[in-house]
Amino acid sequence: MPTETKKTMQIGIPRAMSYYNYFPFWYGFFEAMGIDIVISDKTTKQTMSQGSSLVVSETCLPIKVYVGHILNLLEKGVDTIFVPSIQSIEHKIYNCSKIRGLPDLIRNVVKKDFTIIEATLDKSEKNHGLYDFLKEAVAPFGITDEKRIKAASKEGWKVLNNFKIMLNSGLSFEKALNYAKKGQVVISNNQKTYPINVAVLAHSYNLFDDRISMKIFDKLEKLDVRAYTAEQLSIEQLQEGISSLGSKLYWANEYEMTGGAGHFLQDNNIDGIITINAFGCGPDSIMVERISRAARKFNKPVLNLSVDEQTGEAGFITRIEAFTDMLFRKKRASIINKININENAKHEPSTTKESQHR
Ligand code: SF4
Repeated sequence: MPTETKKTMQIGIPRAMSYYNYFPFWYGFFEAMGIDIVISDKTTKQTMSQGSSLVVSETCLPIKVYVGHILNLLEKGVDTIFVPSIQSIEHKIYNCSKIRGLPDLIRNVVKKDFTIIEATLDKSEKNHGLYDFLKEAVAPFGITDEKRIKAASKEGWKVLNNFKIMLNSGLSFEKALNYAKKGQVVISNNQKTYPINVAVLAHSYNLFDDRISMKIFDKLEKLDVRAYTAEQLSIEQLQEGISSLGSKLYWANEYEMTGGAGHFLQDNNIDGIITINAFGCGPDSIMVERISRAARKFNKPVLNLSVDEQTGEAGFITRIEAFTDMLFRKKRASIINKININENAKHEPSTTKESQHR
């Protein structure tokens, strides 16, 4: 009699968009549910061009990249792909319409035969919180046991929390993720003092995708510049950052951009701000404008880097080099200025009480 082999459950996860915020959670959760995960390959020029070819040219770069990752998973033979619709992450705090409508967008542009797992997370809707979202995510696999789902979600939180602790300490995204997947927590102990410190602000899916951000962290390190990100701040610091700029939290993405900017603009240790925004992103253009205006008040230089699929690495590097060079010169001038003030103070005639009453 032929032996019946149990079909393994498998889910494809595109290495784009919410991957950069929540993959540690998905990893812990799906692993605990006994569902194998296949991740798409890292973004390449081909990922971008294939994704771009299926959407209208005005679409923002991260969505084009996301479409490219779906195609990559299909090429790998994965026929069940997780495309969550993350509507809101807090009460009345929404994602942009493209993130919210991601499953519909993918269904309409990728005309291939595959199953989309399209769970919806909407914290603004009563009865549509995390557990409903997770139940929707595993229902297509025939899993309905709530106890099992809750236990698996605890595993998800464990991996995500460990990952955040490490990212917060300054460990790179890749390293933090690799340790978190192994259940380890390793804290960065980079004691090096850098002459220049900058804050790099962008959505996680732009910042940590090496093709989109052109490995900006490696480039800054080579220039002897230390990079800080909003991911290293607590939620309280980000909220304070938003209100310090007189803004209100509306977009979910405000935390990463406006919150980070509000905090780092007030940090005397930070010499300048670099923003990376995707061409075609409406929320980004509003936030970057707001950050640039606030930076003028704080007298902090800002470099705005706008990226699309045509952005060349050479131009990107030149702009970063020119910006950091200006920061070095500004800092040197300020140090020389302080020395001169101190020297002049030493040589000024001292005012005695006697001379004052003369
Ligand atoms: S926030 Fe901007 S970059 Fe992100 S999906 Fe929406 S439009 Fe695209």
